[in-house]
Amino acid sequence: MYIIIEVRKTDMYGNEVEEKHKYRADKLVLFSGIFFCSLRVIAEIIRGNFDVAIICGTVATFVLGLFVFLSKKNIKRFPLIFALCLYVSYIGASFAIGSFKYFYAYYLLVMLVCAVYFDIKNYLIMLIVTQITNIFLTIFELQGHINGDVWVHFSLIFCSGLMLLLIVQFAVKKSNEVSSATASFGALMRSTPNVLVLLDGDNKIRYISQSVSKIFGIKEPEELAGTNFLDLFNERSVRELFEDIAKKRSFYEDYQKINVNGQIRTFNVYANKMTDDGMFFMLNDVSEITKLKELAEQDSLIDGLIQIPNRRAFDKQIVNEWNRAHREKVNLSFLMIDIDFFKNYNDTYGHLQGDELLKVAGAIFKKNLKRSADFVARFGGEEFGVLLYGTNSYQASVIAERIRKSVEEEIILTTTGVRTKFTVSVGVCSVIPTNSIGHEHIIEAADKALYKAKQNGRNRIWISD
Ligand code: GH3
Ligand code: MG
Ligand code: MG
Repeated sequence: MYIIIEVRKTDMYGNEVEEKHKYRADKLVLFSGIFFCSLRVIAEIIRGNFDVAIICGTVATFVLGLFVFLSKKNIKRFPLIFALCLYVSYIGASFAIGSFKYFYAYYLLVMLVCAVYFDIKNYLIMLIVTQITNIFLTIFELQGHINGDVWVHFSLIFCSGLMLLLIVQFAVKKSNEVSSATASFGALMRSTPNVLVLLDGDNKIRYISQSVSKIFGIKEPEELAGTNFLDLFNERSVRELFEDIAKKRSFYEDYQKINVNGQIRTFNVYANKMTDDGMFFMLNDVSEITKLKELAEQDSLIDGLIQIPNRRAFDKQIVNEWNRAHREKVNLSFLMIDIDFFKNYNDTYGHLQGDELLKVAGAIFKKNLKRSADFVARFGGEEFGVLLYGTNSYQASVIAERIRKSVEEEIILTTTGVRTKFTVSVGVCSVIPTNSIGHEHIIEAADKALYKAKQNGRNRIWISD
């Protein structure tokens, strides 16, 4: 049991905040008990009042309290032992002075201590023990064997009976609450699509949701109880990952690729340590949605007609390659390629044939780029962009010329059986990136060079200066 003291403060932003300070109630009771008992013993001795009952009771309280306080051991049953000792010492003292007239006062004190720092079970034990002695004392009093106040004992028995009723009612209510919580927990474990797992401190499964059947292909999830959670995973790296997670207080990681029965699945993993050193895990299987997302991402970067990277992909690529060339201090070249008189081609052979020509052009460009870092994208319409990493102006012009020639030599047969040809103009630009220019620079420069190539008769390359 704790005593909580709340303090209201304002934080650095002027917001009102609540601070809670927690104190162990049993420690406080013990400490104040020891303090007041010592005062009482000293005071009674000074007053010359050596009433054995008082001295015995207070000394017993003091010695026991001191023992536990100094031992600093967390003796679970201490409150009960303490209360029983106190109680027995009072009975002993009462017998010694031959009078039970103080007895009910001690009894109330003991019960008060019990109520402050006992749990329901210990309180109940104490209540039963005290009431049995009370009944005997009352019988002895009635028979005149001892000297006490019979009505006080009667009323104590009556009050304790009431208390017992209240406790039983409270216990029944608590147990109802527990069973309804258990039922809700069961429903959650049966219906959640996520894999929820509660582990004990040794990674053994206490509870696991039924969804584990679907995701891990386990027929009888009930049988997993008590087995090691890590045994669900074949791969050592995954087992090590989970072992690592289990050592942490809390963990949260999206898109963890985990091999489940030879199949890579993607999970969002959440984990949290529980108060009893157990662990709560939630594996949210996002494999399907991740696959769709990856496909959609790929799709959005590929030109639908020609099946080569599109402008979006190019924009990403040029930033990466520009930065890489900047770091490595090497040339990055860019070719801007435009099909000559493409409008005419469309007008003469039809738009569909124009599409075919674009596909052929794309294939020719790809064929002429040999290095893995070379990158071609459709810029839009009948314009294409080529990035050549680590390639200087001269080398780039050689590649541009090779492409131009390759196009010039290509013969395309239309669906109506006409042999057609086409040409391209290429603007070339090559730079070693510096801090003073951005990647837009080579696009603009190549565009200007392309314009020059067109102006100077088309079917040619033009190198930017
Ligand atoms: P220039 O030599 O000056 O480049 O002349 P051009 O006719 O090639 O240039 P222009 O920019 O005038 O025409 C480009 C044409 O490309 C216009 C448009 O109809 C056509 N086009 C753009 N995208 C596509 C496409 O996806 N398929 C087809 N078939 N045609 C396209
Ligand atoms: Mg054009
Ligand atoms: Mg054109």
